[in-house]
Amino acid sequence: LPTPDADFFGQMDTLTQAQRDFAGEVRGFMHTHVAPVMNEYWNRDEFPRHLIPELKKHDFMRRIWNEDGSRTPDATIMEGLFTMEACKVDVSTAVFFGVHAGLAFASIALGGSDAQKAEWLPRMLDMDVIGAFGLTEPEGGSQVSQGMRTTCKRDGDSWTLRGQKKWIGNSPFSDFTVIWARDVDTQEVRGFIVRTGTSGYEVEKIEGKTALRIVENGLITLTDCRVPDTDRLQNVQGWRTTAEVLKLTRAGVAWQGVGCAMGAYELAAAYAQTREQFGKRIGEFQLIQNHLVHMLGNVSTLFALCLRLSHMADAGDMRDEHAALAKVVTAARCRETVALARETFGGNGILLEYGVAKHFADTEAIYSYEGTNEINTLVVGRAITGLSAFV
Ligand code: FAD
Repeated sequence: LPTPDADFFGQMDTLTQAQRDFAGEVRGFMHTHVAPVMNEYWNRDEFPRHLIPELKKHDFMRRIWNEDGSRTPDATIMEGLFTMEACKVDVSTAVFFGVHAGLAFASIALGGSDAQKAEWLPRMLDMDVIGAFGLTEPEGGSQVSQGMRTTCKRDGDSWTLRGQKKWIGNSPFSDFTVIWARDVDTQEVRGFIVRTGTSGYEVEKIEGKTALRIVENGLITLTDCRVPDTDRLQNVQGWRTTAEVLKLTRAGVAWQGVGCAMGAYELAAAYAQTREQFGKRIGEFQLIQNHLVHMLGNVSTLFALCLRLSHMADAGDMRDEHAALAKVVTAARCRETVALARETFGGNGILLEYGVAKHFADTEAIYSYEGTNEINTLVVGRAITGLSAFV
């Protein structure tokens, strides 16, 4: 019987040898280091921190970023391939990496001074310090550009931060979090590197998630938290810089949808080849074949879309609405695909040990973060009509 392969159209063959080798290296890493422990850590609601030195050994980040904060020529393709290969096995691993290597790193790369980049970026590339990105607030993520409640106020050579940030990935163990806050005097959005251990900065781990349980998310409380002006990101141009970071990382989230759907498809196709009912393998039933073909069609389309998106990003041609539409489409089709995959497993589809249940659960988070389906839809709607549905 053929081995199920989500790359039905051989789209990997359109990539360079170096890109294919990179994808293979990530695949090997996931199968060697993550697959054997992921269910245990899912049950513990905990990130396997011993993976960080293993990730460091592979030096994955340097395929995406240079030490000065510039991107490698095919950074978005490489980032996409990392995300896709990781998500086939475990979405949480890609999210841990995406928060550190995407959101946190890009905030300093795009908003930091040369001195700040020199202080943080090489150590972040080596994964000797781990970053987090604090934008969303308990009162809402969708409105955060307009309704940000976390404030900063200048006081001589330092700033006082007050407010809360919710859902902040990696923050329960990160070395710092980039905190976005509104200046009470100028109303400008500013970014700060807040070091773990700073007085007035407290992180409470969010317990009881039903998706992405291997990622650790925190509720951050800033109580008169004083941060030196030298830790304010010096080149932030208000919300424009935050939006620029999110545009870059949204492409990565679109790739999460591709990888997660691929992983679920391959599991379902393999199961259909062996599971027997009514004296036949279930893959012999036309309705099951219909499920599998529908999944494969989704996966193939999403892969092509994200490859194109990444080529555009690396050529400097990707606009907000491109990243937003790719995120909308991949998240929605991924949701459909993992539901069909789960269905193919019958009752076993809700057991962790069969693999597909984790993809099914994690898709719900992909669907809602980095801009919900509705918010990204409105971004695209505004671009194609020239009319904004936002207040
Ligand atoms: P809300 O904004 O309250 O939205 C609720 C519903 O209302 C949604 O369906 C939304 O689409 C809809 N809605 C809102 N406004 C409109 C409108 N104008 N028109 C139509 N519908 C609308 N944030 C970080 O800063 N850092 C992180 O590391 C991070 N990691 C995360 C990890 C996980 C697992 C999750 C779940 C979230 C994470 N987030 C993070 C937050 C995430 O970005 C937000 O959850 C997301 O932006 C949605 O915000 P919300 O949850 O407050 O939903």
